[in-house]
Amino acid sequence: MTNLAHDYLDLDGLLSTEEIEFRDRVRAFVSARIRPHIGHWYEAAYFPREIIPEMAELGLLGMHLSGYGCAGRSAVDYGLAAMELEAGDSGLRTFVSVQGSLAMSALHKFGSEEQKQHWLPRMATGELVGCFGLTEPTAGSDPASMQTHAVCEGETWVLNGTKRWIGLASIADVAIIWAQTDDGIRGFVVPTDTGGFTATAIEPKLSMRASIQCDINLTDVRVPGHAVLGGAVGLRAPFSCLNEARYGIMWGAMGAARDAYEAALAYTLERQQFGVPIASFQLTQQKLVDMVLEIQKGVLVALRTGRLKDAGTLRSEQISFGKLNNVREAIAICRQARTLIGGNGITLDHSPLRHANNLESVRTYEGTDEIHTLIIGQAITGIPSFSP
Ligand SMILES: Cc1cc2nc3c(=O)[nH]c(=O)nc-3n(C[C@H](O)[C@H](O)[C@H](O)COP(=O)(O)OP(=O)(O)OC[C@H]3O[C@@H](n4cnc5c(N)ncnc54)[C@H](O)[C@@H]3O)c2cc1C
Repeated sequence: MTNLAHDYLDLDGLLSTEEIEFRDRVRAFVSARIRPHIGHWYEAAYFPREIIPEMAELGLLGMHLSGYGCAGRSAVDYGLAAMELEAGDSGLRTFVSVQGSLAMSALHKFGSEEQKQHWLPRMATGELVGCFGLTEPTAGSDPASMQTHAVCEGETWVLNGTKRWIGLASIADVAIIWAQTDDGIRGFVVPTDTGGFTATAIEPKLSMRASIQCDINLTDVRVPGHAVLGGAVGLRAPFSCLNEARYGIMWGAMGAARDAYEAALAYTLERQQFGVPIASFQLTQQKLVDMVLEIQKGVLVALRTGRLKDAGTLRSEQISFGKLNNVREAIAICRQARTLIGGNGITLDHSPLRHANNLESVRTYEGTDEIHTLIIGQAITGIPSFSP
């Protein structure tokens, strides 16, 4: 019989035995390898690179891709893994998103056979780390305004510009760099030891402390003609990678929310005030009930989206629905969970405020709340309103 406190509507009943087994393997990994250390990693602003091989062993890197050593898992499996990882910490889920959904997806979708053979198998084992450079200091929500440019000089491309907020760049072996060219925006596969490429971690941060984001500087970075991603012309290409990551985020955010709710539930059943557990108060129960409602609804949204993705009928505008709703609700849940833990809730002994802080980044990257609202608004009215 389902445990109502943890799965009120028996949503596990919508998953196959194999999906539940895979989910539980990732959950066990998070419990054993992330949960005991995350408070310390977060405080120390430390990205635990040493657990990358274990994530690779679980088949989590580029897990939705086929061939080249990737696990070829379904969209729903990918979502379930993202949910479990983010129940540990958004920073660790972000690593899997940047490596798999952004860098590896770009190579898999748009790379030549040679590029795929060269990079993907070793990225799937975690031997090599990738990053995805789209955002710039003055081009965030509007990447079409990017300034980074690439000029073709004979057999060589020369890249100049700056990128900002690029996940993993300072530890990456390869960067997918998006740049303006005479033919529009193109993607380039840039080994990070190429002369003129530098990446500097952005510090200190109040969010996503157990992960790395960087400024990238490109000064006369010279790569061979074949470094261009042949299949990628225009912004549709990077957007198709962002859609993969946005899809994982809608699941991940619900993982963070679930973890915060479970922490609050356990605390309120234990903590006594006025001679009774604080879970006895109607006002406390109201908060817990509202959390359960939104978590269960959010997981249903993610699962429906995943089933559409696996059926091959998902439209990109539909991804915005879950990204907007689930991250927005997850932040509210994590903040509310913190109130239930009182003063103790502001320490790193409890997860809700750490999750809420992380989710500030999650609501901003891969399209802000406002951008996803505009995407959905355009989808239902037929009128784009991105610029005045
Ligand atoms: C932790 C983290 C990791 C990241 N990782 C990566 C990465 O790996 N690779 C990468 O390329 N980028 C990455 N990013 C960048 C991220 O995608 C951008 O921060 C995001 O696109 C928003 O851009 P911006 O920060 O420049 O904000 P801006 O675009 O300047 O937006 C500021 C505010 O203006 C609002 N706004 C903008 N346009 C409109 C409009 N038309 N209507 C209404 N409101 C609007 C926004 O919604 C927002 O509230 C990351 C960011 C963070 C914080």
